[in-house]
Amino acid sequence: MRQTHLFTKTRKESPKDETSKNADLLIRAGFIHKEMAGVYDYLPLGLRVIKNIEGLIRKEMDKVGGQEVELSSLQNKEIWEKTERWDAKDIWFKTELNGGGELGLGFTHEEPLTQVMTNFVSSYKDLPLSVYQFQTKFRNELRAKSGIMRGREFLMKDMYTFALDKEQHEELYAKLKEAYIEIFKKAGIGEITHPTKALGGTFSPYSDEFQTETGSGEDTIHVCTACNIAYNEEVKGEFEKCTCGSDSFETKKTVEVGNIFNLGTKFSEALGLSYKDESGKENNVHMGSYGIGLGRLMGTIAETLSDEKGLVWPMSVAPFQVHLVRLGDNEEVVRSADEFYEGLLREGVEVLYDDRDVSAGEKFNDSDLIGIPLRVVVSAKTVQSGEHEMVERQSGKTHFVTESSLVDTIQSYVREI
Ligand SMILES: [Zn+2]
Repeated sequence: MRQTHLFTKTRKESPKDETSKNADLLIRAGFIHKEMAGVYDYLPLGLRVIKNIEGLIRKEMDKVGGQEVELSSLQNKEIWEKTERWDAKDIWFKTELNGGGELGLGFTHEEPLTQVMTNFVSSYKDLPLSVYQFQTKFRNELRAKSGIMRGREFLMKDMYTFALDKEQHEELYAKLKEAYIEIFKKAGIGEITHPTKALGGTFSPYSDEFQTETGSGEDTIHVCTACNIAYNEEVKGEFEKCTCGSDSFETKKTVEVGNIFNLGTKFSEALGLSYKDESGKENNVHMGSYGIGLGRLMGTIAETLSDEKGLVWPMSVAPFQVHLVRLGDNEEVVRSADEFYEGLLREGVEVLYDDRDVSAGEKFNDSDLIGIPLRVVVSAKTVQSGEHEMVERQSGKTHFVTESSLVDTIQSYVREI
C-alpha cells in the first residue's frame, strides 16, 4: 500500500482523554479511533493487526479440531433465565423489542451454544466436539480506562468443548492449554506470558489464566523460580509451596491475556444437553470454555513490546512486513523505489511504501511510531550502490540488502512463525 493512499495520519500529541499506554500509542500511530470510553474503531492499520491475530488463533484452534461458527449478538432472555444469569449479571447491555419483550447483547455464549448443541448431540458417538467463534461481545463495564484492553464492545475468540465425561474433558483441556501457549509464543509475548493458577469455577479448585508481564498490569502473580508455574495473588495464600515443592517465588505485575475454564455440567444440566451412553443411559455433557480477547491481545503486544519511539510489531501480527521508505524525489530514486515496491508486491510481500513528499526525519519518526518489523530505505545513495539499507525495528540492527536478498530475508522471518 502506498502511504499517500492511507487515509490515516500519525499525530505527535497524546489524546487528552486517554490514560492507557496501548490506546495512546495506537491512536497516535493511526491504528484506532476512540468512539467513546471503552469503545474503539479499528482503522486500516489496526484492522490488519486484528485480522492477523485472528488468523494466528484460527490456525491453532483448527489444529485441535475446532469447528468455527458465528452466533448472534442478540440474546434470548429465556435461555439465560434457565441458568439464572439473566438477572444475576450486572454487565449486560439489555434492550427492548418494539413489540414488547427484552433482549440482551451477548457478553459470552455458553447458554446459546449449549442450546444449539441440543439439536445435534444425542449419542456418545457425537462426542467430543470443540466449537469456536470470533464474535463481538458487549460488556457494560463500570470502569473502562484500559484502552482496547477492556472494552465495552470487543472482538473475542471463544471456544467451548463438549465431552463425555471428566476424563475426556481433561484431555481436551490439556490440548487447549498447549494451543494457548503456542498462540502467545507466536504473538511474540511467549517469554513474558505465564500459565497461571487462579481461583475459579464450581467444578475445579482453580482455573488457568495466561498472564503477561507488564509494568502497568492490573494483576499480581507469583512465579515459581524452580518450575515457572505462576499463581495469581488471589489464590496464592492456598499455595505456600508450589506443586513442584519449591517455596521460592518471584512477584510480577501482569495482565490477563487468556483464560480457560472447566464448566462441568452446569450449562448442560440447565439447558438439557445430554447423550445416551452405550448402555442407553442418559448423561449430561461435560463442558469447558476458552477465551482470548483479540483487542486485549493486541493492546498487550502494543504495551509490552513498544519502546520510547513507538510500536514494535512481531512479524506474525504486523500490519505490513516491510516499510519501504523513499528518501528524495529525483526521477531515478522515484523510479527505483517504485520498481522495488512493485517487485516486492509480485513476490507476495506485504509492503507499506512511504512515497510521500515529506522530510526524511518525519518519515523515520512515523516509521518508528508505526512499528513495522523491517524498514528498507531507498535513496540516491542506495540506488547508486545497488544495495538498500534494511533496519530491524526491534533490535535496531542494520543490514544491506538487494531486492532478491530482501525477499529471502522476509521468507525466513515468515517461516519462523
Ligand atoms: Zn514450582
